Amino acid sequence: MIPTFTGELSADRLGATLMHEHVFVLNAELVLNYPGQFPADDLVDRAVEYFNGVKASGIDTIVDLTVMGNGRNIPLVKRVAERTEMNIVAATGWYTFHDAPTFATLNGPGRLLGGSDLLTELFIRDIRDGVDGTGVKAGVLKFATDHYGFSDGVLNIMQAVADAHLETGAPIFTHSNPHKRNGLDQQDYLTSRGVDLGGVVIGHCGDSEDLDYLKQIADRGSILGMDRFGLDSKLPYEKRLHAVKELCKQGYAPQIVIATDSSAYSMNFPDEARAERLPKWRASEIMDTVIPDLRNLGVSDSDLDQMMFANPRRILGSAQ
Ligand SMILES: [Zn+2]
Repeated sequence: MIPTFTGELSADRLGATLMHEHVFVLNAELVLNYPGQFPADDLVDRAVEYFNGVKASGIDTIVDLTVMGNGRNIPLVKRVAERTEMNIVAATGWYTFHDAPTFATLNGPGRLLGGSDLLTELFIRDIRDGVDGTGVKAGVLKFATDHYGFSDGVLNIMQAVADAHLETGAPIFTHSNPHKRNGLDQQDYLTSRGVDLGGVVIGHCGDSEDLDYLKQIADRGSILGMDRFGLDSKLPYEKRLHAVKELCKQGYAPQIVIATDSSAYSMNFPDEARAERLPKWRASEIMDTVIPDLRNLGVSDSDLDQMMFANPRRILGSAQ
């Protein structure tokens, strides 16, 4: 069974799934201290309308990879999930490129104040028991590495995510930077911790057209997140399509998942800027444009089904 914001779902009811989306990308402290800046009721209404549109396009499930550090707000997203037919899977983890939260650097085994490792405990609790007071269980774990590499803070988060994964079996989703080829570094770390890379989605591989790099990652067992369709500023649309087409041609469809990494609302990307710069960066474009374009390029229906249905079912269904 796969946990969603509105209850558990059997894997065969997942349907067409986008494996890296966001309902909201916020800043938790701004929202807390300046609620007037964030019309919560409006945001919920807007997100319901957005995901109803995505559902109408043919998508049944999204994985919301908004974790702490991205303004995760489980009660707010739950209000959205209760009003849309879209299945939404929650994530746990921490998003940072450099520093871990101070409490985590001071407390925990081998750290100044000792005691238990709160982050690991929270991640496991989110997966097993649900996020405090909401009843919503997380289905996946997430960490990020980018231009600062494995800083102490990033390693702190990676350790907690790896430990929670080893305890629960929940799949790990990463933010990687393929221009630094750091998906391979993420794999090295996780392998050294005893993690089976078959349960690891290396995120943002779709920002790269370096097929050798992408195949290296896949050959070690991980899944390639071709997950930013529409984010043309990172890599133009046609190049994203071409990479997926080539990988499918070479037999990699069982190790590819597709998404847009967009959101119903992001504080980081105001609506006007997004409309002007990235008009096609929205989740409904996958069924409206991306899948038809891949089909026109010669990607088979069985490969398309593999990426949109079978792979999400296998990956999300892997938790113990
Ligand atoms: Zn994302």
